Amino acid sequence: MVKEIQLRVNLVEEKQGNILQRKAARFLGIPVEDISAVKILRKSIDARKKTIIFNYKVAVYLQEETPESSLYTFNYKDVSSAKEIHIIGFGPAGMWAALRCIELGYKPIVIERGKKVQERRRDLRAINQDHIVHEDSNYCFGEGGAGTYSDGKLYTRSLKRGDVRRIFESFVHHGATEQILVDAHPHIGTNKLPKIVENIRETILKYGGEIHFESRVVDFIIKQQKLQAIRLQNDIEMSVQRVILATGHSARDIYYLLNKKEIAIQAKSFAMGVRIEHPQQIIDGIQYHCSGDRDELLPAAAYSLVSQVKERGVYSFCMCPGGFIVPAATANGEVVVNGMSPSKRNNEFANSGIVVEIDIDRDLHKYEQFGALKGLEYQKNLEQLAFTAGGRSQAAPAQRLTDFVEGRLSTNLNTTSYQPGLNSAPLHSLLPKHIGGRLRSGFKEFGRKMSGYYTEQANIVGVESRTSSPVSIPRKENLEHPEIEGLFPCGEGGGYAGGIVSAAMDGERCAEAAIIGY
Ligand SMILES: Cc1cc2nc3c(=O)[nH]c(=O)nc-3n(C[C@H](O)[C@H](O)[C@H](O)COP(=O)(O)OP(=O)(O)OC[C@H]3O[C@@H](n4cnc5c(N)ncnc54)[C@H](O)[C@@H]3O)c2cc1C
Repeated sequence: MVKEIQLRVNLVEEKQGNILQRKAARFLGIPVEDISAVKILRKSIDARKKTIIFNYKVAVYLQEETPESSLYTFNYKDVSSAKEIHIIGFGPAGMWAALRCIELGYKPIVIERGKKVQERRRDLRAINQDHIVHEDSNYCFGEGGAGTYSDGKLYTRSLKRGDVRRIFESFVHHGATEQILVDAHPHIGTNKLPKIVENIRETILKYGGEIHFESRVVDFIIKQQKLQAIRLQNDIEMSVQRVILATGHSARDIYYLLNKKEIAIQAKSFAMGVRIEHPQQIIDGIQYHCSGDRDELLPAAAYSLVSQVKERGVYSFCMCPGGFIVPAATANGEVVVNGMSPSKRNNEFANSGIVVEIDIDRDLHKYEQFGALKGLEYQKNLEQLAFTAGGRSQAAPAQRLTDFVEGRLSTNLNTTSYQPGLNSAPLHSLLPKHIGGRLRSGFKEFGRKMSGYYTEQANIVGVESRTSSPVSIPRKENLEHPEIEGLFPCGEGGGYAGGIVSAAMDGERCAEAAIIGY
């Protein structure tokens, strides 16, 4: 017999061996010996009160074997001589589109502008140390896409858009720890993601798919509203029948290309702001009600903050406990920041984007001339402004939090995890008022919600600009572009995802849509 129950375990109990069996036995009123196994189904931490509690949902097996943990089997087929589906971009959307094609018996041909994940590392070093951005290989472009060198947070709010569990199981199938199947806030970490991405590549190649690296798509050949071929940067042309366009939200050249060819795209709301960095110890102290080091059983504390300022949301985004701020620009002449963490989240800093919703009808008057690209041009301008303010390199403009809110230049800055370095800049006056003003009010509010958050020991760093796409690519109910037969806009670049898991789910959906009637 199997019984599912909820157990609450405090920190002292958590350190004792066999605690779940003993608690389960007490809960069910049976001897411990009657329990053959306790399987954790879900684990979360409740740190709202001084006594920290681990909440467990467990399956208790009473004189019964525990079954295999995976609910899913992936039936990959040999697709080496099957019908072809072209997939542009090998981020989460492209990777899971390719895997799904193989399950469905179609041959994915992936075209990726960047390099293999290991070769990408050299180019990341060049950004961090030499301030040189390789425009096809950086934190956003290359095998695994923008999610490879990230925190690898796997939570999503898009639960209705697909089968989240299937994506998690697929991560585990390709080398992720089973812990992600039970954690309330699963994450993988930047040190583990590259190997998983390599394993996904191996699955695709083993079953007969193709992946072409360092192959940037520069043109679409369209005849009678049907996509006939794609052209690569080296003038190679590939004939195509069905194309999944999964190029992410940083592929500005794709938006420019679609716009130039008068293929419908739309301006879309997005958010922009800064990244804030605290010593992790401050965040631990606030969240775990402790001073000094957190308990060894507790992970680096995270937070999630939201406030309404003058009818607009101001909120934390992509919070990375125990992490690093990274330079996520995709071109020289711009500065963009984002965050990543290793699996242990054991760096000494906590960083998070703090962003303001941009209303494309009210905030972008100066950019109306750019039509569907107005948000993109605005985003680009702010990134160029950050480049200039930071000293015309990948060093980023920064300010102490308190100086930003109180409107004065910082005479010096706190130490940082951001490798290219920081330069003091008056972000309070440089950022557009509708962002800067709301951020300043938002930070004060956050200081009231989390006592100790508003501190001169935090830096804010500009600019956090690539939170979501400023452009969307429309699609019909069958997920095909309304004007171009054979083109399936997909993932974050189309405006259909906002993170790794939602992009992966959209990749699967697009693969399922692309094979219909083919
Ligand atoms: C530093 C960082 C940290 C992040 N942390 C997290 C996190 O912890 N959790 C989370 O859920 N999300 C995180 N994100 C966001 C997440 O990575 C994206 O939401 C996700 O990767 C989007 O997936 P995608 O496949 O739609 O696009 P992308 O991942 O952007 O992939 C697009 C791919 O297309 C390729 N491409 C672009 N143009 C072309 C072209 N013309 N020809 C051929 N190929 C092209 C690119 O090289 C890229 O590999 C992070 C992002 C960054 C940058």
